[in-house]
Amino acid sequence: MKCVFCGGKAEMQNVTFIHDENNDYLFIENVPAEVCLQCGEKTYSPAVTDDLLRLAKRKLQPAKMVEVPVFDYAHQA
Ligand SMILES: [Zn+2]
Repeated sequence: MKCVFCGGKAEMQNVTFIHDENNDYLFIENVPAEVCLQCGEKTYSPAVTDDLLRLAKRKLQPAKMVEVPVFDYAHQA
């Protein structure tokens, strides 16, 4: 498959999807996506996108909870 953005070669990989909405974050691991080897753009199939949206609504129990350090680039010491 070719990247729709740059025309580079895209390859099936398992990636971590990061959902960010109103400072509410969640990660979804092992998501199959076409990843462009040139620009890194990720493309999800329509079926996977549906699943991601369902998971993002937190209808299921998460597999695990993690604490994530958050840095603000604009407020570096
Ligand atoms: Zn690309």
